[in-house]
Amino acid sequence: MKKLLVHCCCAHCTAYTINHWRSQDYEVTALWYNPNIYPYAEHQQRLKAMQSLARTMDFSLRVINGYDITKYFGNVVGDEANRCQHCFQLRLKKTAEAALGSGFNAFTTSLLISPHQKHDLLVKTGQQLAYETGISFLYADLRKRYSDSRHITKPLDLYRQQYCGCIYSERERNASTNKA
Ligand code: SF4
Repeated sequence: MKKLLVHCCCAHCTAYTINHWRSQDYEVTALWYNPNIYPYAEHQQRLKAMQSLARTMDFSLRVINGYDITKYFGNVVGDEANRCQHCFQLRLKKTAEAALGSGFNAFTTSLLISPHQKHDLLVKTGQQLAYETGISFLYADLRKRYSDSRHITKPLDLYRQQYCGCIYSERERNASTNKA
């Protein structure tokens, strides 16, 4: 069976993503590396939800130790307009390298299920990393399954985030809430 490493952004996007790739006959392992998430307490709450999902759905979860937020800001500050590009690059590069170093056949990301993400940019980033590292990037447009994924996690009572992850997205979310 082929081995797939799935970068996981949150439990709610991961649930259906894991089922999808399992149904394609991949042995799936999840990878947690999301140094974009701010603040640290939020990062830990989302990680805890992911660990709980991994136990419930019985998949292996690798966690990259530490909280690399300085790396995130190091790439983004001064180029905030392109922050998502830097964010995808940082997270997917770590995933591709981990996959390569541990004998996986391919890598992908749960971000592909979210209609809120810059989908084309994600695909381009994954494909470019595949070209650079030599490990395959698996693509599936799962955006129509976004609500199915949330239906899977609903009864599990997991922490549900209110913004994408970075400080900029938190501010944007707060600004729109205050307007309402
Ligand atoms: S909006 Fe989301 S994808 Fe874009 S930089 Fe912030 S956390 Fe990353």
